[in-house]
Amino acid sequence: MTTVAFLGLGAMGYPMAGHLAGQFETRVWNRTPEKAQQHAAQHGSQACADVAEAVRGAAVLFTCLPTSAEVDALADTVLGAASAGLVWVDCTSGEPAAARALAVRAAQAGVVFLDAPVSGGTSGADAGTLTVMVGGDAGALDGVRPTLAFAAKVVHVGPSGAGFAVKAINNALLAVNLWAAGEGLAALARAGVDVSAALQVINASSGRSNATENLIPQRVVTRAFPVTFKLGLLAKDAGIALRVVNDARASAPVLNAVEGLMRGAANAVGADEDHTAALKLIERLNDQEIR
Ligand code: NDP
Repeated sequence: MTTVAFLGLGAMGYPMAGHLAGQFETRVWNRTPEKAQQHAAQHGSQACADVAEAVRGAAVLFTCLPTSAEVDALADTVLGAASAGLVWVDCTSGEPAAARALAVRAAQAGVVFLDAPVSGGTSGADAGTLTVMVGGDAGALDGVRPTLAFAAKVVHVGPSGAGFAVKAINNALLAVNLWAAGEGLAALARAGVDVSAALQVINASSGRSNATENLIPQRVVTRAFPVTFKLGLLAKDAGIALRVVNDARASAPVLNAVEGLMRGAANAVGADEDHTAALKLIERLNDQEIR
């Protein structure tokens, strides 16, 4: 049976590793060890006390940490413990430049590094229906495709760093849609229009988006703001998108603006709040709740 390892059992990693444990011999490690022990009890994975123990002898390694900085901090240990031929699938939403650098370092240790961030949120992770966008060696990806048990769609998007670049731009678009819808709905509410009625119309019209169809009705209008994807992580992704724009010497004034707005919202509202709580800043600016 193929042995796989998973480092980082957060909101995404915990359910993703659960799908692996059903099909492969799965070792899990988490900074806070109680989560790994809980995972072992719930899913039959093997909780490891340290990173090297998890990685040693594994054929495929998955990581899902907040940023590339936390991934880089584990790299020496991972590469020191890795068997030659290990494929490292990094599902963090990370930095393209960090992926390129780590792919080179990994190759020197006989390891293939793939940047493989995911989309679909915690509900997609629970259901095993995530989309994975992969940068790096296409042949290595084909070799590990059968182990991507948490995914419904896997797309090779280019060389090292391309997966992280696509993910960052996708999330910048999420931020744009969310913020713009928030501005529009706050204005309508101030004008005396019922927000739910406005959403009914928008969602049957050309202004609709995932923000108007799902996020705002389920999380903002209800005032629930359940924390499944932290605002600080969305601000981080908008920052990565800006670096993608600048590295390509592209002109993207809206993406520039949304990075500042997400960073400001994380500072003002709280980085550990749900990403939809960015709209609380719009509410303050307008002295108007969106509901
Ligand atoms: P969480 O904050 O829920 O989990 C973060 C994980 O990283 C935890 O396991 C945490 O361990 C671990 N961690 C944090 N700091 C360190 C460190 N210094 N060293 C080792 N481990 C550390 O994040 P998510 O699961 O939400 O996000 C993970 C990645 O996936 C991010 O890049 C995010 O942008 C991306 N993503 C998130 C989505 C979502 O809907 N939540 C959707 C798609 C992508 P501990 O338990 O000890 O805190």
